[in-house]
Amino acid sequence: MGELQNDEMVGQRNQVRLKLAAWWEANARDLPWRFGRTTPWGVLVSEVMSQQTQMSRVVPYWTAWMEAWPDAAALAKASTAEVITAWGRLGYPRRALRLQECARVVAERYGNQIPDDYDQLLDLPGVGDYTASAVSSFAFGRRVPVIDTNIRRVLSRVFLGKESRGGAATRAERDLAADVLPFDTAESVTWNQSVMELGAVVCTAKKPLCESCPVSEECAFLKAGLPGLGEKRTRPRQRFQGTDRQVRGIVLGALREATGGGVVSRERIERLWTDHVQLDACIASLDEDGLIEMLPGGALRLPR
Ligand code: SF4
Repeated sequence: MGELQNDEMVGQRNQVRLKLAAWWEANARDLPWRFGRTTPWGVLVSEVMSQQTQMSRVVPYWTAWMEAWPDAAALAKASTAEVITAWGRLGYPRRALRLQECARVVAERYGNQIPDDYDQLLDLPGVGDYTASAVSSFAFGRRVPVIDTNIRRVLSRVFLGKESRGGAATRAERDLAADVLPFDTAESVTWNQSVMELGAVVCTAKKPLCESCPVSEECAFLKAGLPGLGEKRTRPRQRFQGTDRQVRGIVLGALREATGGGVVSRERIERLWTDHVQLDACIASLDEDGLIEMLPGGALRLPR
C-alpha cells in the first residue's frame, strides 16, 4: 500500500470518526454498564468480567453480581465461596479473587470510591493497562487511548490495511491508537467505544461484515482485498477439550453446585475425571490459587 498523503490521511480519519460516531449512536448494544447507568465501580467490574468472555454473555453475571455487591465495600466483605459461586462459568476464576482483592483496596484505601487517576487505577490488584484505560475513558470520561484486541484489529485494518499480528501490543500499535484518538475529550470516549464495538460485532477476526460496515469506503484493508484475513495469531488457539482449564472448571462446577455444607467427597471428585494424575495436578493448582479448600481425606469445598 502506498503511503497516504497527509491531507488524505486527515480526511480519512475525520470520515471514519464521523461515520463511527453516527453508527455508535444508532447501533450501540444496550449493555447495562453503558450510558452512565452504573458507577465507575460497575464499569470496572464489567471490564474485568469481559476480558476473556464475550460482553453479551457477561450481562446476567454482571447484573446478579452488582445486585449482590453494589460497591467495592460490599464485595470486600463477601466470602470467597460466594464470590467463586457468583463468578459461575465466566472462566478464569482467579479473576474473581483478584477483583475481590481490588475491592478491598478500594474500600480501605480509597473510601469505597475507585480512584480517578490512571496510575492509581493501574496500581489496583488485577488491573492492567487495558482495564485502567477503559475505566479512565468509559467511567471518568478521560482522553486516553484504549487498546484491546478488537481495537487493535480495527485500527490496523482501517488505517494500515493489514491484520494486527496478535500477541502483546507493539509500539507501532500504541502509537497508531494515540495518533488517531480524537483531540476532543468527549469524542475520544465515543471513539474508543465505537471502535471497540465495531470490532466486536462487525469487524470480527474471521468473518468481517464488510458489506454492512459503516467505514467500508475508508477501509484500507478492504481496499487491499483483505490480505491474509484471519492470519493474526502468533500461536494457535489452545483447544479446550481435555485441558487443565476444562478439568479445573469441572471441579469448581461440582463444588459450586454441592449441597449440604458444600463438601464434595474424594470418591465423587474421582468420578469427575478419569485421568487422576491430571485431576490431582488441577486440584493442587486450584488450591494454590486459593480457589478451593482441601479437607482431610481428600474432600474439597469452596473456601469459607
Ligand atoms: S470494511 Fe471490513 S475489514 Fe474494513 S473495518 Fe469494515 S468490516 Fe473491518
